[in-house]
Amino acid sequence: MSQSPVLQSFIAGEWLGQQAEKALVSPVNGETIYHTHAETIDFEKSLAFARKQGRTALMNMDFQSRASCLRDLGKYLIEHKESLYEISLLTGATRNDGWVDIEGGAGTLFAYASLGRRELPSGNLIHEDDAFPLGREGQFFGSHILVPRQGVAVHINAFNFPIWGMLEKFAANFLAGVPCIVKPATSTSYLTEACVRLMQTSGFLPEGSLQLIIGRTGDLLDRLEGQDMVTFTGSASTAAKLKVTPNIINNSIPFNAEADSLNCAILAPDVSVDSVEFDLFIKEVAREMTVKAGQKCTAIRRVLIPEAHVKAVSDKLSQRLAKVTVGDPHLDSVRMGALASFEQQDDVLAQLQQLLKSSQVVFGYEKDTLELHGSDAKQGAFIQPTLLLSNDPDADGGAHDIEAFGPISTLMPYKDIDHAIALAARGKGSLVTTLVTQDPHVAQKVVPALAAWHGRVHILNEVSSKESTGHGSPLPLLKHGGPGRAGGGEELGGIRGVKHYMQRAAIQGSPTMLSAVTGEFVRGGDTIETDVHPFRRYFENLQIGESLLTHRRTVTESDIVNFGCLSGDHFYMHFDDIAARDSQFEQRIAHGYFVLSAAAGLFVSPGEGPVLANYGLDTLRFITPVPIGDTIRARLTCKRKIDQGKLSPKGEPQGVVVWDVQVTNQHDELVASYDILTLVKKQSV
Ligand code: NDP
Repeated sequence: MSQSPVLQSFIAGEWLGQQAEKALVSPVNGETIYHTHAETIDFEKSLAFARKQGRTALMNMDFQSRASCLRDLGKYLIEHKESLYEISLLTGATRNDGWVDIEGGAGTLFAYASLGRRELPSGNLIHEDDAFPLGREGQFFGSHILVPRQGVAVHINAFNFPIWGMLEKFAANFLAGVPCIVKPATSTSYLTEACVRLMQTSGFLPEGSLQLIIGRTGDLLDRLEGQDMVTFTGSASTAAKLKVTPNIINNSIPFNAEADSLNCAILAPDVSVDSVEFDLFIKEVAREMTVKAGQKCTAIRRVLIPEAHVKAVSDKLSQRLAKVTVGDPHLDSVRMGALASFEQQDDVLAQLQQLLKSSQVVFGYEKDTLELHGSDAKQGAFIQPTLLLSNDPDADGGAHDIEAFGPISTLMPYKDIDHAIALAARGKGSLVTTLVTQDPHVAQKVVPALAAWHGRVHILNEVSSKESTGHGSPLPLLKHGGPGRAGGGEELGGIRGVKHYMQRAAIQGSPTMLSAVTGEFVRGGDTIETDVHPFRRYFENLQIGESLLTHRRTVTESDIVNFGCLSGDHFYMHFDDIAARDSQFEQRIAHGYFVLSAAAGLFVSPGEGPVLANYGLDTLRFITPVPIGDTIRARLTCKRKIDQGKLSPKGEPQGVVVWDVQVTNQHDELVASYDILTLVKKQSV
């Protein structure tokens, strides 16, 4: 039996696996580095554990506390990142490649932590949109809520990003409050295992919220139920096979797929060979070919260039690729490492042979002349960056259909921009495309056409290049996933990504009922009025619906004149009697911002108190004009409370309170309507 360690699954709170099964070989030098375990996994037990312990632990938390937990997990991983980098090198990845996987993964946890803190409420229910009346009397309202699905998320991941691939999915399902079972691709599962071990030893991972499968999924998919879901990243053929699992179809189990993608980059016709944009294009293509040895779902496989620039692009790209040092990623001098496995190397070389049937080599794969850095590299799974030129970009097959998942791209010359748009769509749906142009008119014409076929469109020019995150980087705030061949799925995209793990329901009922369900005041619902001004209450003591109806104030001409002089706003509607009479209001009216200020004057409780700061206004609308002589008053109602567990700069615990404000006139007509956001001190520390 080999000395190399046996990887373990993390199932039902325990690490499982002693007996070695499949040898996992380092693609850097061909040595066996780990074994998978031979013990079979009891998926009935695993699912039951996720549904009971996992769900209970997550439901004992809420969006805000799970967001804090993601932040703590991210910090812990960053503190221990060097141990992950060490293992990452064994996958053939350079330190740069590892950065995307390891720190990109932790970065996704941080991004979802702050999204959750900022955009999600306390509790475990999202009220998606403000309730709206469905009847004339204001007694029957409708709205939408989202609640965590009561099942398990099964994530089946690809080999290329063993950590990021897990964490970009985990961040969203965890924040939603759904436990997950992760199955990484076997060939690089040792890096995922190391990451899960860190997460578990951190002490921050709630019991049952994350389980890990090393090896096969056995009968797992057949045991799933209607509240569960599956996300998949990998080949289109496996996605096609798994999503028609009878149990998945029969129970309408959501299956989100992210599969092969023949992404392209387009050099627009307006870009001249001597421009900055031309160099940016060359740099971007070369980078996408060589980062992670081209094993990225977002890598540029098809390079669409004007026919006139074939030679210039070929020469420049070849020069750049010739400088890429290939070999053992442990060496600082190496820019491109190995493919993730020998199977991948065989697969990529086979696909290259297919591509060569309709293209020629411009720069590239020469087995014997490739200079490899590193003493054992000859035994490794390396491939030279290879640039091809398509003989007939309009023909079927070739780079429009064949994915060589390595450092291989194909130049495809186009006649004009319409031709380029048509060729881009021949990928049948991709994750991302880059358009390099200097001309906003070109972007205006091309981007909508590209958007139908591509999950993300990256527009690159000299201005954006200084901050561009690049063609190949999916970002937590932007949707990742593309139509058609790319799998038709969607991940990330900010809070959208969390909602994929939640169930949406439309709700209808009286305002008071909807307030009770959503935990948010709905206008027309019961209010609570006491002798205590709501601004005098600490965060914990404030109740949703607690309300204050203010005294009245008659708006005078002096108000308008004073406000105009103070603010410098002498707009004719407030100061020019003749012009105002000709306007739709037929008389001078008060400034909208005066109405806001006057309302604040009516509803604030001026003394020092638990309300620490006013930090904004949402949904402001001026509805009815306020002419001189009208009398206004305000109703202030506690609408929503969010406990982010934060401290004020002076160290006082505080929460966010959103107040519904309605300003009305003497006819009880709504004059202005808005939400104000305040920070309110907590009584308890
Ligand atoms: P696969 O589709 O074979 O594997 C993807 C994942 O699915 C792995 O975790 C794999 O596990 C798992 N899997 C495979 N078969 C089953 C099954 N019957 N039941 C449950 N799980 C299963 O892709 P590979 O990783 O082998 O890569 C093959 C090709 O896919 C690449 O060459 C590339 O073309 C494409 N690819 C696309 C990616 C993208 O993001 N768009 C990413 C990676 C690859 P196991 O490893 O144990 O087989």
